[in-house]
Amino acid sequence: MDAVSFPALSDLRATARVVSLPLVTRFRGIDAREALLLEGPQGWTEFSPFVEYDDAEAAAWLTAAIDFGWHPQPAPVRDAVAVNATVPAVAPAFVPAVLARFDGCRTAKVKVAERGQTLADDVARVRAVRQQLGAEGRVRLDANGGWNLDEAEHAVHALSEFDLEYLEQPCASIDELAELRERIADWDIPIAADESVRKASDPLAVARAGAADLIVVKAQPLGGVRRALEIVADAGLPAVVSSALDTSVGIAMGVALAAALPDLDYDCGLGTASLLAADVTTTPLHPENGALPVRRVEPDATLLEAHAASPERRDWWLARLERCYALL
Ligand SMILES: [Mg+2]
Repeated sequence: MDAVSFPALSDLRATARVVSLPLVTRFRGIDAREALLLEGPQGWTEFSPFVEYDDAEAAAWLTAAIDFGWHPQPAPVRDAVAVNATVPAVAPAFVPAVLARFDGCRTAKVKVAERGQTLADDVARVRAVRQQLGAEGRVRLDANGGWNLDEAEHAVHALSEFDLEYLEQPCASIDELAELRERIADWDIPIAADESVRKASDPLAVARAGAADLIVVKAQPLGGVRRALEIVADAGLPAVVSSALDTSVGIAMGVALAAALPDLDYDCGLGTASLLAADVTTTPLHPENGALPVRRVEPDATLLEAHAASPERRDWWLARLERCYALL
């Protein structure tokens, strides 16, 4: 990136706004999502690595934020992106209310292997989702690496009756994913890699190891839309674009990635703004008729104010911004 288009830290600080948005239901162990938003010459952009991530990991998110705000993005090849509903690790009774937030979505991604829950909890939740979506619906699961090999194999046996589209990151390591893929070869359930792509030092290792049938890619952790497009091309596997529980500003970055992918065979995990009880715009990127439009998002000044993080949290984010900037 050249000096003209690469912003100084003072440029970033000048427009930085830190927000804390309440979630509809507890997700990833949090009740509110914090994000730092920035305005560049291309429009608003988002820097929102989860708070527990270290600076080295968070720096890639800043690279992505700067890229989206300061550089023109690859041309879209579609003007809408079909998305899935996301069902957190809720009790079965809450499943209809969660799905109701995702207008027209034919696919649901269901969180499983939640710490403190049992396989019976997963089975009950997945059954409720399957019942709600009907036979035509697509049900995919995300374990976030929460099972060991034997647990994953056992879970596949218990959950296969629900006609799964794929199983995302059932185990944590690439070796485990590869071994599981062999063990369950007869079950015809594809394995998707997520954390093994975005948290690995080498995002292509999972493809080389033959450890997955498809990959989940996220624009922020992979360093931006262009970098993610390169990774998908190099991996040579089908890709699903997903979000990291971003505000609608960050979702727009994911949508830009999904819109620019040459092939997009799966519904994308970009409907998660529907899990926020509040957003930074009055026209959030919520799915309508199962899809999102391809557009950028400009936050509403009133909402930035209404959901501003506390001064302490703002200082924390600005300090993080400065540390990560120094790593670029
Ligand atoms: Mg995932």
